[in-house]
Amino acid sequence: MNLQKKILISFLIMILTPCIIIGSLGMIAIGIGLHGFRNGNNDTIGIITQPIHALTELTQIEYNELSSSVVRYPDRIENEKWLSEMNGRLESKFSYLVVVKNEEEIFVGNPDDYEKVRSAVLTGIASRGAAFDGAIYINGKQPVLVKHGNIFFNDASEGYFLIITEATVLYNRMNRSFVTGVIIAATLIAIMAMALIAWLNDSIFKPLENLRQATREIGAGNLNYRLKREENDEIGQLCNDFEEMRRHLKTQIDQREQYEQDVREMISNVSHDLKTPLTAIKGYAEGLLDGVADNKERQDKYLRTIVVKATDMTLLVDELSYYSKLDNNKLPYNFEKVNAVGYFGDCVEAYANELEMKDFTVKFISEIDPETMVSIDCEQIRRVMNNLIGNAVKYRNTEVHGQLDVKLTDSGDSVRISVSDNGIGISKEAQPHIFERFYRADKSRTSGRAGTGIGLAIVDKIIKEHKGRVFVKSELGKGTTISFTVKKGARNNNGS
Ligand code: ADP
Repeated sequence: MNLQKKILISFLIMILTPCIIIGSLGMIAIGIGLHGFRNGNNDTIGIITQPIHALTELTQIEYNELSSSVVRYPDRIENEKWLSEMNGRLESKFSYLVVVKNEEEIFVGNPDDYEKVRSAVLTGIASRGAAFDGAIYINGKQPVLVKHGNIFFNDASEGYFLIITEATVLYNRMNRSFVTGVIIAATLIAIMAMALIAWLNDSIFKPLENLRQATREIGAGNLNYRLKREENDEIGQLCNDFEEMRRHLKTQIDQREQYEQDVREMISNVSHDLKTPLTAIKGYAEGLLDGVADNKERQDKYLRTIVVKATDMTLLVDELSYYSKLDNNKLPYNFEKVNAVGYFGDCVEAYANELEMKDFTVKFISEIDPETMVSIDCEQIRRVMNNLIGNAVKYRNTEVHGQLDVKLTDSGDSVRISVSDNGIGISKEAQPHIFERFYRADKSRTSGRAGTGIGLAIVDKIIKEHKGRVFVKSELGKGTTISFTVKKGARNNNGS
């Protein structure tokens, strides 16, 4: 449920609940309190809205019975037993009976109470006239409702009966019920308000506090502080976005730390790789100066070693500066359409002599249409081939005769070039990382092979610029195949 709905529901509950609770509970409480005042025509609402009418209705049956009895059975009106019975019924309705004959009370149901209201009642009746027949409300310290009926006795004397109902009982009950109703309603409203506050606290204030805590933790540099997943309302979404941001930030910082670690490692590797040939160059140069190389043959050998070591250093420095340009996107690409078989065949041919001298057998296999064209930057792809063939040599298995195969296969809209060797191979764990910059499978550098860990990162970057992909397949001790794809270009129709 979203926050807007929650607030709307809270407001509705706040407004409607008091009304419903006060209304229904008040009615119930008053209804219970007014039990005894209700009869056929009196319901709770009627009693509250028209209390006088309710009081009148209360004794209506007894009034009717008395009125008809005085006409049909006039002797009953002087029968003490019958009058007491009738008074008993009226008592349960907070009323009593008074019978007056020739201005003299011959029966009074509740003498004590009657005494208190007698003069007011008599004055009230007198003011209505002798023919008065109905109900009259007499206000005062002890308000009463008086019902009056004429009687014509058997001995021709005249009189009347009174049903006197005490209004105070009803008023007191109404007051008490009202107070009880209000207390119950107020208690329920308080409980409801507390539940509502707890609900809003759980869904708004608690998550906000968690968010604040998380912000403080992140501000203090603790990026491992996780924010619990909240409901899917606006605040929940905010918390989730915040958590997403934290994860993103952490990944970035981890990556940066990893990068810095890699750079440190690379600098140490490179300085080691530069130091070894430099030491050799220095040693051979000193040998020449000191005259250790005393014959032409020895001097030539020393000089050749110096040249080889200097070339190694140049290659290393060149690779570093090349990668830095590539990483900064400073190398422009110059795509051309060239014949695939021709181009890659020439590439392999260029290395053939050198590789054969290094005890390698080189094979070029083409399984594609000889006319197939590819769209490539020749210089960059030459560097790719150079790095792959260079690695095949660098990571050769010195115990076996070297084998290097370069194979072209058709791959739909691309040509796939695979460079396979029978070298030392790459472990399964290292394979997913070899295209990362500065990554070297042989971290301890026990093999003594020079390298920066950026040769394959360069391959990966160049091939991506060609919208191609790179793959590795390798088995430790058996060999490695690294392949890449380049997009085909328009078909070469003139065979050039
Ligand atoms: P390096 O400068 O270390 O050669 P590369 O990026 O060219 O860096 O290669 C990354 C790592 O992949 C190397 O350190 C090496 O462990 C492994 N590797 C690459 N090519 C081969 C291969 N042909 N045979 C075995 N291992 C290889």
